[in-house]
Amino acid sequence: MKFELNRPTDYSDEAIINEIKRVSLIVEKPLTISKFNNNSKYGVDTIRKRFGSWLQALNKAGLDESYLHLENQKISTEEIIEELKKVSKKLNSKSFSRKDFITNSDMSQFVFKRENSFNKLMKQAGLDIPLKSRKYTDDDRFENLLNVWTHYGRQPNYAEMKNEPSIVGPKAYVIRWGSWTKALIAFIEKVNSDISVEITSEIKSAENENVEKLEHKKNSKEDRREIPLGLRFTIIKRDGYKCVICGRSPNTTFGIEFHIDHIIPFSKGGKTREGNLRTLCNECNIGKSNQFD
Ligand SMILES: [Zn+2]
Repeated sequence: MKFELNRPTDYSDEAIINEIKRVSLIVEKPLTISKFNNNSKYGVDTIRKRFGSWLQALNKAGLDESYLHLENQKISTEEIIEELKKVSKKLNSKSFSRKDFITNSDMSQFVFKRENSFNKLMKQAGLDIPLKSRKYTDDDRFENLLNVWTHYGRQPNYAEMKNEPSIVGPKAYVIRWGSWTKALIAFIEKVNSDISVEITSEIKSAENENVEKLEHKKNSKEDRREIPLGLRFTIIKRDGYKCVICGRSPNTTFGIEFHIDHIIPFSKGGKTREGNLRTLCNECNIGKSNQFD
């Protein structure tokens, strides 16, 4: 019998990262805490303390979204709300930021891709949106407008921005762009720039390389899992502001939220392009069977 120490002797960042990498190679995705515990002598608590959270440790080890994604799709809104309440108790505060949440929870940043959905769930959990996030960025304003627009299934008016589901008031738009109409124009411009392939003067002058360069730019966009705002808007509009499976929308059914789904999963080589994307509600998105598995 081989004698082994019960605890590892090397607790350097490098040793821990290497250990996470080693375990990631011997277990099936996703790499959960319990799988790690079963295959390693390093304590997960130590790793969390060192890197802030389990997920940040995975990120440090260079493990991509695919190590987390499968797990996260199965997290329901109720579970997220429970977790928010738990973190609230732990921090002894009714208000905390998305970053605080990620640091103090095992749910990943992929649960809240956007500040918007975090703030919305904080409200649902009876907690307060952190003051800090009330300083809006352009992206916050655009995401909120996208959300309200798809909620109503049409361009919203100034007054509608004061009410649910909007979380950025209309004044924040006027302050930024001068008027509500100018804000709408900025939004449309953002959408158009997201869905078009940029033609730079450099490309224009090199006629022969046109097609190749455009293709290259297009491909690199399509090879990203993240779906830019303009493309998300285009898909929801194309699908008539409805879930393509059950036909429900946030406007007609309380608690419904849209997700843009890769028809051929991104992990199976599906591209982030219009033909491979569709609108699903949160429930159909969780319940959908993966026909390619
Ligand atoms: Zn649905």
